[in-house]
Order: sequence, then C-alpha cells, then structure tokens
Amino acid sequence: MHPSVLSNASPGLSFVPATPQSPWQVYLQQVDRVTPHLGHLARWVETLKRCKRVLAVDIPIQKDDGTVAHFEGYRVQHNLSRGPGKGGVRFHPAVTIDEVMALAAWMTIKNAAVNLPYGGAKGGIRVDPAMLTRPELERLTRRYTSEIGLIIGPDKDIPAPDVNTNDQIMAWMMDTYSMNVGATATGVVTGKPIALGGSLGRREATGRGVYIVARETARAHGFDLAGSRIVVQGFGNVGGIAARLFEAAGAKVIGLQDASGSVMNQAGLPIERLEAHVARGGRLIDAPDATPISEDDFWGLRSDVFVPAALENQVTAERARVLSTRMIVEGANGPTTPQADDILAERGIVVVPDVIANAGGVTVSYFEWVQDFSSFFWTEAEINDRLERIMVDALRAVVHTADKHRVSLRTAAFIIACTRVLAARELRGLYP
Ligand code: NAD
Repeated sequence: MHPSVLSNASPGLSFVPATPQSPWQVYLQQVDRVTPHLGHLARWVETLKRCKRVLAVDIPIQKDDGTVAHFEGYRVQHNLSRGPGKGGVRFHPAVTIDEVMALAAWMTIKNAAVNLPYGGAKGGIRVDPAMLTRPELERLTRRYTSEIGLIIGPDKDIPAPDVNTNDQIMAWMMDTYSMNVGATATGVVTGKPIALGGSLGRREATGRGVYIVARETARAHGFDLAGSRIVVQGFGNVGGIAARLFEAAGAKVIGLQDASGSVMNQAGLPIERLEAHVARGGRLIDAPDATPISEDDFWGLRSDVFVPAALENQVTAERARVLSTRMIVEGANGPTTPQADDILAERGIVVVPDVIANAGGVTVSYFEWVQDFSSFFWTEAEINDRLERIMVDALRAVVHTADKHRVSLRTAAFIIACTRVLAARELRGLYP
C-alpha cells in the first residue's frame, strides 16, 4: 500500500493480514475477554476494536551511493478520547500495519490503565536500520517525520522511542517537525536528549518500571528479589536497564537472550560487562562470563521471574507449557498470546501484563512533555519518586480489580483502562 492513506480505518480493511495470531488479532481477543465486565459501557466497545486513524506513507531516500530506496512507514492513532495520541516509533524489518495497529491499541489501554491524559498511537517503518549508514538513517527519519507531520504535534500525537529508535532519532524528528512548523517544538516527541528538553530518567524509565512491578509482585507472593533468579529476553533499552536494576537489587540474572542468541550463567551474568561488550559492537553470545545456550535451553531455564523484553508473540502456548518460573513481567508489548495466558494461569504462573509492567516509559514521557510545556525541569530524584508512586498505585489498583472480578491481572488492567476510555467516549458523545 504505497499511496498515502489518511482514513478512518476499519480492522477489516484488506491490507490487514489475517494470520490467526497477528498482534491485532491478539488485541481483539483481549478486548473480547474484558467486554463482559464493562457493564453499560459495553455498548461502546466497538470503538476499541477500530483504529481512529491509520496513515501509511512512502518514504523515498537517496542512498549514499546515489541510488533511491523506498520504505513503507505508518502512524496509527487508535483512540484519542482521553487526550492526544502517545506511543513510540519502531524501525524493524518485520513492521506491518497490523502490528502498528495493535501497538497503538495497547498504548490506548496502557495510558488509560496508568491514568495518563493520553490516547493511544504508534508508528513504525519497515526497515533494518543496521543496513543504513548514519546519514541514510537521518534522511529516513526526517522524511518519515515530514510525511506523518500531517497528524503529529505536541497537542495532537507525540511519538517516542521504541525498538531500534533512540534519543538521536527523536532529536531528528523534533528538528524536522520544528523546521516544518517554523518554531522549535520540543513537545512534539519525548525521549529526546536532555540538551533538547529531554527528561532525566526517561531512558531508564521503562526498565525501572519493570523492576518496580517485579519487586512489588514478588513481595506480594512472599519472596524478595534479592537472591532470586531472573531470565530476560531482549537486552536493549528495556531488558538491559531492567537486568541492571535486578542485579543491583541482589538478584541473579541467570539467562539472557537477544537477536544474536541466548546465554546463561547460574552464578549471575555480569550485566555491566555484557552491556559494555554489546555497546562496543560485540555479540551477546560472545560476551565474557556468559555460556551460549540453545533456544530450547533458554526457554527451559528455571527462574523466579521471567521478563520478555523483545518483541510480540514470544510466549506462545508451547513455550508456556515448558516455562519454569513463578512470574512473568512483560517488558515487551504483546509478548504473550491469549492461549499462553490460559496455560500460564492453569499452571499458577502470575503474568504482570505489558500495559502495567512497561508503563514506566510512557509515564516519564508524560513528565517530559509536562516539563517541556512549562519549561521547568525536575530533578532525577523527583522523576523517579513520582514514577515509583504511579507504578505502585497502578499495580495496586489492578490487583484489587483482579481480586474483585476474579480475573487475570491482564483482564483487570483492561477493565480499568477500557472503563476509562469508554466513559470518556460516552461523555463526549458522537460527532456530529
Ligand atoms: P531495543 O531495540 O532497545 O532492544 C530490543 C532487544 O530485543 C535487542 O536486544 C534485540 O537484540 C532483541 N531482539 C530482537 N529480536 C529478537 C528476537 N527475535 N529474539 C530475542 N531477542 C530479540 O528495544 P526496546 O526499546 O528495549 O523495546 C523492547 C520491547 O519493549 C518492545 O516490545 C517495545 O515495544 C517495548 N517497550 C519499549 C519501551 C521503551 O521505552 N523503549 C516502552 C514500553 C515498551
């Protein structure tokens, strides 16, 4: 789908691939599970099963060798009932419109579950950024930003980093948008460098939030993270920071996996040394004090906490049957399929869902946006303090709702979030 399309999209549109476990289909199943708990608001539930706006863009760039390459990009605004769109931008070869729609919808749920004044949005480009030079990556980012400039803005929709995007990409996005509108607009993206109005603590926020909910959930189940065994899938922003905080709390990170493969060390992997090795361009599987293991052995590792922090659909039904852990804390978005959720529940393995567990990132993005608007910046201690309070309160509310309705933590988080979104929908009414 190359021509730009700006439409009120229906999930039935033909460009949505109909694979049974596509991320959008997983999201729809999650909404079906919550519908019986929505009372009179259930009459509005169709709102959640559609995206408000789907934009697909062609991104032509000139390569360093003078040739022209085309990439396909998207920005999806799933729901804006509670405020401007908010959600990351992903650069990955597997990005599809279906995936971006699901990620945007999960942002709607996440922002409402934590009670941030945002709707849900997400963006992405189908590209392997490792195949581009830095100038090519900059041209790609700038052209994409210009193309989606129709629908983003500090009070419309605010992108942030996600897989394979970082503060430099956000700086280029901010600059491009600012050039197009003729004024410096720091609030158009979050996750920016500190020198451009970024927030202290933002880079670490998602991993920190994962750590906070893991610590609280472990306590509620009668164990302390100190001395516990942790396995993390994904060693990027989320998985890397979470692993570092687990280690600092006295836990042993015994298994790690990234796109290069899996490693283990029963005495605890030395996280800082591994990070330095990867930062120098080394592969995780060649890192010091880390024994490479097979994919099967990775999923068979015995742990107290398992943290998926890579991509969607990783904890499948088959893997849910063999996972040997007490709880899963979802750093990634959409890592667990609904079938796996059922198997894990039967096996008594607690799942702290993505929409709570990884909400630390968007929470500090919200702080960044507020700081940009007020041009008044907070200390890192203030940021971390407020983050801690919001995460702990949100988790408590989810646990309370789960007990009250006798449902999983995921369905409980969806009950809270969908109730907020649909109540806003009902109050606003339909236009015209
Ligand atoms: P990142 O690009 O920094 O890191 C991704 C990691 O996953 C890398 O270590 C990569 O090697 C690994 N990976 C990729 N494919 C893999 C595979 N097939 N098997 C195993 N590992 C694989 O990305 P990130 O920002 O850490 O995001 C990770 C997840 O967390 C995504 O689901 C993202 O949507 C979610 N998330 C990120 C943020 C944020 O603030 N960055 C916030 C909320 C949720």
